[in-house]
Amino acid sequence: MSTPQPLAPPVAETNGWTTQDAEELYRIRQWSDSFFFVDDEGQMAVRPLRDEDTVIVIDDIIRDLRKRNVRLPVLLRFQDVLRARVVRLNTAFADAIAESGYQAPYQGVYPIKVNQLHEVVQEVVEAGKPFKMGLECGSKAELIAALPHMEEDDSLLICNGYKDSVMLRLMLAAQQIGKNVVPVMEKYGEFEHFLKLAQESGQRPRLGVRVRLTTSGAGKWAESGGDQSKFGISIPELVNLIRRLKEQDLNDALVLLHFHLGSQIADVQILKKAVKEITQVYAQLVERGIPVRYLDVGGGLGVNYEAGYGSEEDSSINYTLREYANAVVYSVKEVCDEEKVPHPVLISESGRAITAHHSVLIVEVLGSYRKDTIEAEFAPGEEHNTVTRELFEILARVRALPAGGKRRKTPPISDLMEAYHDAVEKRQEADTMFALGYLPIEEKGLAERLYWSVCKTIDEQIKRVPRPELVPKELRTLDDHLVDQYLCDFSVFQSIIDHWGIGQRFPIVPIKNLHLRPTRRAVLVDLTCDSDGKVSNYVSANSDTDYLEVHDLPAGEPYHLGFFLMGAYQDIMGDSHNLFGRVAEAHIYADPDEPGDYYIEKIIPGTSVQEMLAQVQYFPNDLHRRMNDIIRQKIDQGRIRPKAGVELLEQYMQCFAQSTYYDPDDPAAGKEDAP
Ligand SMILES: *Cc1c(COP(=O)(O)O)cnc(C)c1O
Repeated sequence: MSTPQPLAPPVAETNGWTTQDAEELYRIRQWSDSFFFVDDEGQMAVRPLRDEDTVIVIDDIIRDLRKRNVRLPVLLRFQDVLRARVVRLNTAFADAIAESGYQAPYQGVYPIKVNQLHEVVQEVVEAGKPFKMGLECGSKAELIAALPHMEEDDSLLICNGYKDSVMLRLMLAAQQIGKNVVPVMEKYGEFEHFLKLAQESGQRPRLGVRVRLTTSGAGKWAESGGDQSKFGISIPELVNLIRRLKEQDLNDALVLLHFHLGSQIADVQILKKAVKEITQVYAQLVERGIPVRYLDVGGGLGVNYEAGYGSEEDSSINYTLREYANAVVYSVKEVCDEEKVPHPVLISESGRAITAHHSVLIVEVLGSYRKDTIEAEFAPGEEHNTVTRELFEILARVRALPAGGKRRKTPPISDLMEAYHDAVEKRQEADTMFALGYLPIEEKGLAERLYWSVCKTIDEQIKRVPRPELVPKELRTLDDHLVDQYLCDFSVFQSIIDHWGIGQRFPIVPIKNLHLRPTRRAVLVDLTCDSDGKVSNYVSANSDTDYLEVHDLPAGEPYHLGFFLMGAYQDIMGDSHNLFGRVAEAHIYADPDEPGDYYIEKIIPGTSVQEMLAQVQYFPNDLHRRMNDIIRQKIDQGRIRPKAGVELLEQYMQCFAQSTYYDPDDPAAGKEDAP
């Protein structure tokens, strides 16, 4: 009998790994704008206020929410981060104005299409009050939502997009009562129509014009500006517009010039060029007796999602918030001073840069799928199939090759190539035999594991080759096939639509255990039945960004991933692929006097099954009746007892109130890998 051993504590794979390494691997410093960091215990934490001592540990919030029966996935909104971004934007412009001696203020507007959630808009307006920050809307519904939030008369409400008579009349009425509402004319016809409506109501109108510039943006939204843009008034039209205003003695009606290069401007040089171009237009108008007051440089202030430096491939941005503000202020000043015209009030419609940082999506990993390899001691016997034994021989062959290392030779590439091709052939043979019924399923299982073992051993050899660029692509990419799949409880289409749509990368980081070295490489897949329902590119310090470095799934406890910089566009553009609905939300405020330095101000439940179904016109009454008919039939046929029938119906009806996502506590989640 062996003596009982005390249970050894699990060996943490720290071996030289620190929380600093985790910050570097996930490039947290580069994208977090100092709001997010890894604390000494390896947990993702938030520093929402400037003060160093107020630190919120994300895992604390998750545990808190679970106690309140809020299920994951959940979107956390850090309202203080939102406020801080408003302040940072305004401060950057104020500093640039002070340093350059610019003679007019900055007065930004928040374009609500970026995130229309009422709490977000309210928070931005509130935080923006000291800066007279206003709002921007681009449709009727947005106008209706935004107008009553214009508490201060000075703050601007800028209305872009195509506007019908109802909208234009409402804007005139708002101007009449003293609100600073500026409809921006997107096309010439809109201008004539607006003038007519103003005449009808006997009112002097105020308006802005979106100018069609020669400069066009670069990157994904390049077509929002330039000659090909679907918006804007051309220079010949503008000349005509001025003539019309002068005819009607309405010189002071044109108060604002606007352009928009498109979102996420990659290159600050393009911005400068466009700003100088519009300032030239402004100067010419002022010189012709049109006292334009506001110069609006649109949206496009970028967010450094990819934590890169603006190279062609990674579609990052090549400037900071401060550089953006400087670029605008100094460019306008330069042209105005040359032309000797007064400095206009500056406006930007920065949306993404205000909201992106404040929200984090928390997702649970439900399980993993690994490319299983074979145990080191495995050796096939007589009872095994020939194909299994042949695969084993290939494995033995690659294992016997010189193992690399300092003085030892690495094996010739040709040997590895040959072994790989042999393994591919044998695996195909096994598949064919199985399909024809000649190979039992257990043997097929063995064959697959042997195949992955061969691939893994070859891959390890390849990594030691002195000049990897000489290795054939087939072998170099072997690595990609060996990564795990981690099944995550969310939908790419609902929560990170831009990843699917335009390949936008978002930083994704495990929420805790970051003091431990992540030893697995995984591709994250979602719950939808769509093969596009996965994350295919990651923010990482590795040169290979096709996978995420993660930990082994811990036994008996959940593994959570945080998706960061989720606050711009994703919420509102997400769609309901496979009828996965909006995720639950929790609004968090920092408070140094509370345990954990925070309190949860509000919880908004995610979309229920019933709400989701109603959007596609299925209603509980009708579904209940249909289900009831089927069950009654089965009772009549003697298939089930009436009591069981009633229970089944109840069970079915209970689902209407449930979340559309997976219950991670459900035993069917099957978190453990097969032994
Ligand atoms: C979308 C949009 C914005 C917001 O752009 P961001 O890049 O999010 O700052 C601003 N102005 C107009 C006209 C827009 O269409």
